[in-house]
Amino acid sequence: MTILANHAHVFPEEVWSEGSLEELLRLMDACQIDQAVAFAPFADQVRKVGIEPNLWLADELRKHDRIYGFGTIDLKAGGLAGQVETIAQLGFKGIKLHPAFQKFNILAEELHELYAAAEELGLLLCFHLGVHWHLIKDYHPLLCDELAHLYPRLKFTMEHVGGLSFFLDALAVLTNNLESKNVYAGITSVLNKDKNLLWYLGPERMELLAALIGSEQMIFGLDFPYNGIYETKETIDMIQGLDLSKEDKAKILGGNLSALLSK
Ligand SMILES: [Zn+2]
Repeated sequence: MTILANHAHVFPEEVWSEGSLEELLRLMDACQIDQAVAFAPFADQVRKVGIEPNLWLADELRKHDRIYGFGTIDLKAGGLAGQVETIAQLGFKGIKLHPAFQKFNILAEELHELYAAAEELGLLLCFHLGVHWHLIKDYHPLLCDELAHLYPRLKFTMEHVGGLSFFLDALAVLTNNLESKNVYAGITSVLNKDKNLLWYLGPERMELLAALIGSEQMIFGLDFPYNGIYETKETIDMIQGLDLSKEDKAKILGGNLSALLSK
């Protein structure tokens, strides 16, 4: 089975050496992961070293053909539609958004030009959703229902499926928007009980999710470097052990993401 994983955060060596592209490749080899999507760092994480995150990642990826890049947005810089266009021009197929870390409300007025541009350009948005020490009303998963309603062709993932606390809300959004096939559950950091109990969903909820939204709407992610080899293997083993068909597991572990990236 070919594994294509979503949701790796990568960093320049001087910012976080454990989160370098080389370390990501090492983890991929150790876990038999063929390809991965790497997110550019957030602007605030690299501002002090004077790096433009999207340009940095695009440049690095010239050396790495097993890794796809997704961009990030610098909210402080403004001109969000232009930033989305630049991301697409760099060859990236998506954007990682973290409303809690980047401190924005999912439905804030200033974000709308970003969503419209991403919808137009067919970029996949990956939203961090799960309690993350910022005013919850800014990133409550239910906000994604209105987002899907306003931008019916916009493709996005609900990472961590809302975490343990908001799993049912995320499930409501996923099932409410099933017809469009554009809203995905990000199976990321939700199967490591010892590492992150706050987002732990466990195998039973994964099977429930597959029964309710279909394996077509589920995408496996790494959360590298916050998760290491141990947690990644644990997650893959748990997905492989689910009471689902081989085909379903192949879709979750990369088939769905591969189809999205090839569009
Ligand atoms: Zn993340």
